[in-house]
Amino acid sequence: MKCTILGCGSSRGVPEVACSCYVCSSKNKKDKRTRSSILIESEKTKIIVDTSPDLRQQLLSNNISKIDCVLYTHAHFDHIAGADDLKPIIQLSGYNKIPAFMHNFTKKMITTRLNYAFNDITEGYSPFLDLQIFRDDLFWYNDIAVQPFLQQHGTIYSSGFRFGELAYSTDVHYIEEKYLHFLYGIKIWIISCMRYFGTKTHFGLEAVMQYIEKIKPDFVILTHMGHNLGYDELCYLLPKNIRPAYDGMSIVFNK
Ligand SMILES: [Zn+2]
Ligand SMILES: [Zn+2]
Repeated sequence: MKCTILGCGSSRGVPEVACSCYVCSSKNKKDKRTRSSILIESEKTKIIVDTSPDLRQQLLSNNISKIDCVLYTHAHFDHIAGADDLKPIIQLSGYNKIPAFMHNFTKKMITTRLNYAFNDITEGYSPFLDLQIFRDDLFWYNDIAVQPFLQQHGTIYSSGFRFGELAYSTDVHYIEEKYLHFLYGIKIWIISCMRYFGTKTHFGLEAVMQYIEKIKPDFVILTHMGHNLGYDELCYLLPKNIRPAYDGMSIVFNK
């Protein structure tokens, strides 16, 4: 199994528009972050998590020509706005529609914001996403097992996903004990870290370190990073088993 970080930026991306801070003006390519998304692939199946506003560029940069389904973490715009860029790839993959899996909690917000993607609203374009709801149970998509779990993200929930020994947790400020047990035993944790200090909606580095202490994964990759976090600085500060993500980074893992 392989996971590719398609984007690891927070909602504004890095560089932020019109910002001249040292991270936004960094020459390091690893400080250029598109909005957060990952691709999970087995030999047979490619699953994308979220459709970021930068999806088109992410598909081009990573030479992606097939996607079988989408998993949505939540309906904030930086996680859904690129859905339309799936259309050419859905056609190329030989489908009319692909399944879009989400928690019931996310359904209303996504289908309101992207109504045309799910429903025929008679503008002459066909819907291209097929709404699928998951609950707390493990489910399979082709040969890939997906264990969703809820995470508190401000006043809403986002969904985290575990795929075998790897888990992806973005847009979260708190994980309840009853959902934490889905994470025990993972080897790799991709977890969002907006900046050094947390907010009402996002983990900061301190909270991330506390959760790492509880879950004890072998390797941690920070994602959904804002422009306060410079790649080189993080590499210098963090222990070797915790690394900042960069766009295009890939990780091989077991089911
Ligand atoms: Zn976000
Ligand atoms: Zn969010």
